[in-house]
Amino acid sequence: MHVQLFLLAALLQAAQGDARRAAAAPAAYAVPAAGVPLSLARERAARISGLRYEVSLHIPADPSTRIRGEEVVRFTLSDASRPLALDFQPGAESVLDVDVGGRPANYDVANGHIVLPPRWLKRGENALRIRFLAGDAPLNRTAEYLYTLFVPARASAALPVFDQPDLKARFTLTLEVPKDWRIVANAPERDRLDGDSTTTVSFAETEPIPTYLFAFVAGKWSVETAQRGGRTLRMFHREKDATKVARNRDAIFDLVDRSIDYMERYTGIPFPFAKYDFVLVPSFQFGGMEHPGAILFNASSLMLDESATQNQKLGRASVIAHETAHMWFGDLVTMRWFDDVWMKEVFANFMAAKIVNPSFADVDHELRFLLAHYPSAYEVDRTAGTHPIRQELANLDEAGQLYGAIIYQKAPIVMRQLERLVGEAAFREGVGEYLAAHRYGNATWADLIAALGRHTRENLTAWSRVWVEEGGRPTIRVTLTRDARGRIASLALTQADPAGRGRRWVQPVALTLVYDKRTVRVPVRLDRALVDVPAVRGLAAPDLVLPNGDGRAYGRIVLTPEDRAALLRRLPDLPTPLLRGAAWLDLHDALLDGQVEPAAFGALALRALERESDEQLTQRILADLDDVFWRFLAPPERAALAPRLEDTLWRLLGRASTTSARAAYFAALRSTATTPGTLDRLTRIWAGEMTIDGLPLAEQDLMSLALQLAVRGRPDTDSILAAEERRIHDPDRRARLAFLRPALSADPAVRDAWFDALRRPENRQHEPWVAEGLAYLNHPLRAEHAERYIRPALEMLEEIRRTGDIFFPKRWMDATLSGHSSPAAAETVRRFLAERPDYPPRLRQIVLQSADELFRAARLSAAGTAEP
Ligand SMILES: [Zn+2]
Repeated sequence: MHVQLFLLAALLQAAQGDARRAAAAPAAYAVPAAGVPLSLARERAARISGLRYEVSLHIPADPSTRIRGEEVVRFTLSDASRPLALDFQPGAESVLDVDVGGRPANYDVANGHIVLPPRWLKRGENALRIRFLAGDAPLNRTAEYLYTLFVPARASAALPVFDQPDLKARFTLTLEVPKDWRIVANAPERDRLDGDSTTTVSFAETEPIPTYLFAFVAGKWSVETAQRGGRTLRMFHREKDATKVARNRDAIFDLVDRSIDYMERYTGIPFPFAKYDFVLVPSFQFGGMEHPGAILFNASSLMLDESATQNQKLGRASVIAHETAHMWFGDLVTMRWFDDVWMKEVFANFMAAKIVNPSFADVDHELRFLLAHYPSAYEVDRTAGTHPIRQELANLDEAGQLYGAIIYQKAPIVMRQLERLVGEAAFREGVGEYLAAHRYGNATWADLIAALGRHTRENLTAWSRVWVEEGGRPTIRVTLTRDARGRIASLALTQADPAGRGRRWVQPVALTLVYDKRTVRVPVRLDRALVDVPAVRGLAAPDLVLPNGDGRAYGRIVLTPEDRAALLRRLPDLPTPLLRGAAWLDLHDALLDGQVEPAAFGALALRALERESDEQLTQRILADLDDVFWRFLAPPERAALAPRLEDTLWRLLGRASTTSARAAYFAALRSTATTPGTLDRLTRIWAGEMTIDGLPLAEQDLMSLALQLAVRGRPDTDSILAAEERRIHDPDRRARLAFLRPALSADPAVRDAWFDALRRPENRQHEPWVAEGLAYLNHPLRAEHAERYIRPALEMLEEIRRTGDIFFPKRWMDATLSGHSSPAAAETVRRFLAERPDYPPRLRQIVLQSADELFRAARLSAAGTAEP
C-alpha cells in the first residue's frame, strides 16, 4: 500500500501563511501517496457519481505569468465519513482557497492532493469552489499559443480534479485570453465577451469525458473550415505557406469525413460528440491525440510537402483514421484503468487499417499491414526488455510507460487474429454490442472478451492469456524430409517457447512452398508444439518453405541453412510483394541472430532494390539497408560497400517514376552518403547549384540535408549550418536548427557542452528536438567520441521519466544508443544495469529494448575480430 500517515501539524509548518489552514486543529489521517494509486482510484470511483466541473481560467499572453483559475466541482457522494482527496500536483502555494457552500473550508495539501476533512462533506450532492494558480507543466505554453496534453494523468498537473479515467465528468469551460487569440475546446462555443485587451469565451457543457481527454488550445492560429457529410469541420494550424495549405486542406477534410462515416457504419453508433475540430500543432509530441472536439495532430504529418512519399500519405490517412476511431474506442467507451490503455490503441489502429484501405486501392494492404506492424512489434518483442500487451499498473503516475510498440504494433496483429478466430461478422456484432452497452462509460478487456465470447465457441480466455497477458513470441520452424525420389516424405511445423515454459501461441498460418515457377500455399492451424502437414506429402520437394507466406504468422521464424541460402539468391525473384516482404523479415531476423553475414545482407538489399516494384517494400529495404550499413558493417566493410551503394541509389533516383520514390531514394542517399563525390554533389544540391529532376526540395528537406552534411565533419560544417539558419523562413524551424547546431558542431567541446546543458530540464522542453540532436550527437561517424555520453544519459533516465512526456524515455534511450555498435558501448549499458538490481523494472525494459541492436552488433563485431 502506498499510503503514508501524515501529520497535519507537520504540514502546517510547510504551508505558506494560510490562516484558515493554520486555524485547523492538528489531526492525523491518511493522505494518499503521490500520483493516483489504484487503491485511491477504486475508493473514489465507489463513492463519487454525477461529477461536473465548471472551470474558468485567465490566460495571459506572457507564458511566464501564472494562469489564475477558479473551479466549481459538483458531485454526489455515497459516503461522507472519510476525507476526500482531489489530485492537484502544483502544491500548497498554488491553492488559493477552497469554499464549501459559500464557507471557507480548511483543507490539507500533500503528495499532489488536496484533502478535505469529512466535516466539509455530506452524503448526496456536494459543491466545492476552488481558486488556484494552474500548473504550467501540461499546458505547453509559448508566447504565441498553448495546448493542453493531459494524458495519461496530467490534468492534475494543471487543475484540481479526480484524475482517473473511470470518473467521467461533464466539463463547462470559460477562458479569458488575449484579444487576438483563438480557442478550441471539447465543446462548441456558447458565449463570447470582448473586453479592451481580452476576450472571454465560454463553452457548452461536454458529454461525460475522462480528465485525460479534457482539452483546450488557445493562441494565434489560422483556421480552415469545411462542410462534409452535413457537419462543419474546422482545422486550426500555423502554416504560413498558403499554397501548402491549399494543397493539403481538402485531402485532410476528406480523410476526416471518410473516417467518421466508416466508424458510424461499422459500429452502428452515430458520431458521439458535438463537433469535430482539430489542431495541427508544430513539433507535437505524438502523432495525434484524440481529445473529443479538439483533436491534436502533428502538423508535419498532415501538412505534406509536394515531395511526400506514399508512406507519408498513408501515414497521414492512418493517423486521421486512428484519432477518429478513438471517438468511439477510448472516448465514448473508456478503459476503467490504464492497464487496459492498449485496448483503445489497438482498436484505433485496427479500425484505421479498415478505414484507410479503400482510399488506397492500388496499395497491397496485406503487405502494408505486415510492414507497418511486424518489424516494430518484433523490435521490442525479440528483446530481453519485452512485456505483455496488458500490464499491471499500481499507480497512474507510471501509466506513460505502458505505451510503445507492443501496444501500437503487436496488439493490432493479435486483434486481427482474434477477428479471424471469431469470424468477421461475429466480431463486428460483438464489438457493436460492447460499445452500445458501455457508451459514455467505462469497460475492461474482460468485458470485451465476454461480449465476443457470446459469438464463438473458441476458448478466448486461454487465447488471451498467452497473446495478451504475456510477452514474447514463439520460435517457429519447418522440418521437411524427402523420400528417395526427392518428394516430400513429411513436413511438420513446430513452435517452441524461447522462455522454456512450454507456452503455445495458437494461430492460423499459411505455409508456402516455393518452387522455380510457382508457389503452393497450405493453410495450417498452428495450435500445438508440432503440427504435421499431411496434405503436402508426395508433392515435389520445394526450393524453400516459408511458414509466413501470407504475412500473418507471428514469431521468430528460423529458416534452415539451405532455405536461408536459397533466399539470399532468390528473394528478389519471389513472385509477389507480400511473399518478398515476409521473406525479407525472416532474413532480417536471421541477420540479427548472426545467421546471415551483414555484407551479404547489404549486397542482397542492393540487388532487391534494383528489381523491387513495390514502393512500400522498397522503403522497408532502404530502412534496413541504412541500419545494416551504419550498425552492422565494420568501417572497412562500409567503405567497401559505399561506392556501389551510392551508385545504385543515384541510379534508382534517376529512373524512379514517382516523386515519392525519388524522395525515398534521396533520403537514403542523404543518410548513407560517405564518399567525397556524393558529398560534393549533395553540397551543391544544398547550395542550390544543382537540382534533382522531378524532386522539389522543401525547406525541411534542405535543412535535413544541411544537418547530414554537417555530421560528416567536413571543414565547412559550421558555415553550412550558419548559412542554413540564415535562409530558413519558418520561425519554428529556425528555432529548431538554432537548438540543434551545437550538437552538430565540428568541435567536440561544443558538443560536450550541448549534452551537459541537457541536464537542466528547461533545455529538454522541445523533446523531438532533443531526440534529434542526441541522434546526431551519437551518429556512427562520431560514436567513438560519443561513448562518453552513454553512461550519463542512462543516469538521467529516471529524471527524464519524471519530467518528460510518456514516449520520451524510450526516445531518449533510442537516440542515445542508435549510433553505437561497439563492445565497449554494450558493456557500459550492461554494467549500468548490473550495478542496479533494484532499478525500476519498466525503465530496465526500456533500456534493454533500446540496447538490443547494440548488443547484437557488438556480439557480431566481437565474434568477427575473434576470427583468424
Ligand atoms: Zn491512439
